[in-house]
Amino acid sequence: MRLYFHIPFCRQKCAYCKFALTPFVRDHEIRRYLGFLRAEVSSWLDENRDNDIIIDSVYFWGGTPSVLDIMDVESLLASVRGGARLVDNVEITFESNPEDLTETYVLWLASVGVTRLSLGVQTLRDETLKAVGRSGSDPILQAFDILGQHGGDLSISLDFIAWLPDTDVDTARNDIRRALSCLDAEHISLYMLESGRYPGSFDFPEDEIFEAYTLAADELSRSGFNRYEISNFARPGSECRHNQWYWRHDPYRWFGLSAASFDGRVRRENSASFVGYYRWDCFIETLSDEQLRIERVMFSLRTDGVKESDIGDHAWLVRLMSEGVVYRGACEKIFVSSACIFSIDSIMATLL
Ligand code: SF4
Repeated sequence: MRLYFHIPFCRQKCAYCKFALTPFVRDHEIRRYLGFLRAEVSSWLDENRDNDIIIDSVYFWGGTPSVLDIMDVESLLASVRGGARLVDNVEITFESNPEDLTETYVLWLASVGVTRLSLGVQTLRDETLKAVGRSGSDPILQAFDILGQHGGDLSISLDFIAWLPDTDVDTARNDIRRALSCLDAEHISLYMLESGRYPGSFDFPEDEIFEAYTLAADELSRSGFNRYEISNFARPGSECRHNQWYWRHDPYRWFGLSAASFDGRVRRENSASFVGYYRWDCFIETLSDEQLRIERVMFSLRTDGVKESDIGDHAWLVRLMSEGVVYRGACEKIFVSSACIFSIDSIMATLL
């Protein structure tokens, strides 16, 4: 079983953010929220007290989990350990913003069992970071330094955005090159923002984004990273297990605001509003075989290939293969060609 804690607080709201969260952290709001989070965990453990719950991974995401005091992280993990068993090599990932990382915080994270630390970099271009409402590049470079000196056995993942307004097509590539020269990261996430994710009617230029993504992806490949999902690259053996299980439709239990859980057939999604979450409002949906097939196509086209038997429109499959848009690869599965990755959403829609 995989667990996830949604921590919906940030110190600021980035211009491109679409997540359910509240910017500007207030301590009493965090205390109240954590109380409900612990109650949700406890109620889930009660419901499953006759089952032997074995946890393979725990993921703290948000929002910005690093706004939490370390005691809160420890107490959430303790609440899980109180009724479930964590496997010896459990993967515990913690997302952090650079300005929250101090030497003490990093050492504490490792001491409470965190094994992976994911750092939101986005870009190293100072002006761009400030323009999107982030803190600039100094805290990032300091965080690299702290992790280099005190990160110990933590596996480090860095998040980048392939292209942002006022950057060049080679900015992300150069940023990644610089980051890897400062820090031995095992995993890189490289996101592409779409139009509609930015204030006003800013239009994202698809050609430039794709070129920026391709240059950065090539740099990662040269540096020994394999792409195992469109936006995720890892050194061999350092793929994020939590994400892989999620994409494979394995059961997971998420806690908190807007958190969705899945048992292989039934999906349960908590309210995305604090008022609703504090009333335990949630939406429950039993997925049909057809809905499961559609989700399988969507996840597997982005990751380790779609089984041909899951594809709905075989006439389109033949046509897209003849045009080189998709190809038959390992294990006879269907993959999207590198040159067409940017069109993956429309390819998916065509093959469903
Ligand atoms: S730090 Fe992340 S979650 Fe918070 S506002 Fe920025 S993009 Fe959104």
